[in-house]
Amino acid sequence: MLATRYGVHHISTGELLRSEMAKGTDIGRQASVYVRAGELVPDALVLDLLTDTLRQASEEGGWILDGFPRSLRQAEEAYRQAAMTGATADAVVYLAVPDEIVRERIAARASEGRADDTDPSVTERRLGVFHSETEPLLDYYENRGVLVRVPASGTPEEVAEAMIAEIERRQAS
Ligand code: AMP
Repeated sequence: MLATRYGVHHISTGELLRSEMAKGTDIGRQASVYVRAGELVPDALVLDLLTDTLRQASEEGGWILDGFPRSLRQAEEAYRQAAMTGATADAVVYLAVPDEIVRERIAARASEGRADDTDPSVTERRLGVFHSETEPLLDYYENRGVLVRVPASGTPEEVAEAMIAEIERRQAS
């Protein structure tokens, strides 16, 4: 919804990885062990997959990165690469949702075909990894003055509306 609103590319690292896994490529085979276990795919693999896609999207008017960065090392490397091309992020959106709602959402979509949604122990591992590896990025981006926090327990439409309102309020100030 956000990508449509701003006319930019939507790039999800999870989708990129699942597409490589479905095609059975080398990257897909290496990544699947981690994805199925609820672990982060090693930074080098994710960055490898992302670089060309991101460069192309930057040339074509911009991007929304979804599910990236997930670790401090990814954030630092992404900044280093983006700074070279002047394509750094205007805003970093944190969708704040209690763990209990995350569990309910994942359980509700478990029949939609993602192997890592069907096993509750994998869900718990993903939540654990989020809190230990990804949550520290909130301070990182807050310190850089680009963090936008959006309560995200509502419907997709409500969350998209809140996101756009916050981003525009920030741009206007
Ligand atoms: P997602 O579709 O964003 O929920 O991602 C699904 C899975 O793909 C995650 O649980 C990770 O195993 C892997 N993944 C997606 N994005 C990243 C990333 N930026 N860094 C490392 N692993 C990732």
